[in-house]
Amino acid sequence: MRELKTMKAIRVHQFGGPEVLQLEQVPTPQPGPGEVLVRMHAIGVNPVETYIRAGKYARLPDLPYTPGNDGAGVIEHVGSNVNEFKRDHCVYTAGSISGTYAERALCKAAQVHRLPPNVSFAQGAAMGTPYATAYRGLFQRGHAKPDETVLVHGASGGVGTAAVQLARARGLRVFGTAGSDEGLKLAREEGAHEVFDHRADDHFAEIMKATGGRGVDVIVELLANVNLGNDLTILAKGGRVVVIGSRGRVEIDPRDTMQRDADVRGMVLPNTPPEELASIHAALVAGLENGTLRPAIGKELPLAEAGEAHRIVMESGAFGKIVLRTSEKEKV
Ligand code: NAP
Repeated sequence: MRELKTMKAIRVHQFGGPEVLQLEQVPTPQPGPGEVLVRMHAIGVNPVETYIRAGKYARLPDLPYTPGNDGAGVIEHVGSNVNEFKRDHCVYTAGSISGTYAERALCKAAQVHRLPPNVSFAQGAAMGTPYATAYRGLFQRGHAKPDETVLVHGASGGVGTAAVQLARARGLRVFGTAGSDEGLKLAREEGAHEVFDHRADDHFAEIMKATGGRGVDVIVELLANVNLGNDLTILAKGGRVVVIGSRGRVEIDPRDTMQRDADVRGMVLPNTPPEELASIHAALVAGLENGTLRPAIGKELPLAEAGEAHRIVMESGAFGKIVLRTSEKEKV
């Protein structure tokens, strides 16, 4: 009888705190038609995975499950009807069938993208959710254009650092905020022309001053429940706020939108139509190849410490991306 292959994976048997993330030995999945099996070397941890783990999200998986959409590694097996990938190709994942918090992840071929040679696995693990969200927020929802001014409200974390790099590369004037000195330094290093401390009550006035009183054209908002009311007062005419993150309710004055012909546009990445998602990843791979996109890694932890990673990702003082590792390998 053939021996059943197994692998290590994080499993969640009941929704709850970070302690429900348990490392277990599970059967290794096998790719079917149109699927690939990726040997994961680094896994990206996103806030949404903490909401799902806690059972507090609109769409919840059946229990038990392995969390995660993002990661990077090497293709180990290719199913039938897959022409674009071969064994040993380095890839990053943007979605997965079996979950990425594991040594191996089963993915549809459309969920994996080539990782250029100059990019590490840890950096690849920062791409799927944060960079795709930042790109969609800035360009497909926010219609940000070169020579406009964008405020990345929360520029120190996974999505924020991505938005700063993308906007800077596209020729926008970029303002970024953070809530720690390290975060402010990071936002500036990643390309923000000016940085502001979102802990300071007067940072809205300071941003307005920096535009000479004109206001900003686009706001990429990572914490709308705190900021949306004031965001509307610092928009230029025709300005857009793209709501990417929010953790509660907020009061706004609708007149602030009227005076400016302003728009508030929400988004969640899973709503992206497949052809728009494909164009996002084509642009992201090009940005990795030409070096304009350089994911900033804040912390790396072993896979077994997924619970600790979930605690850290919800703390303030963000500094780039939090990544889980299943190996020390940087590249083949
Ligand atoms: P992250 O890496 O933990 O970063 C969180 C960011 O929020 C940090 O830059 C943090 O700054 C900032 N922040 C904290 N207090 C703030 C304030 N008062 N005003 C503005 N920003 C503030 O998380 P992430 O992966 O970038 O995700 C950020 C948010 O977007 C989360 O709520 C996440 O759920 C959401 N998100 C939504 C989508 C979508 O499809 N809509 C996709 C991805 C993420 P400091 O720590 O420096 O204070």
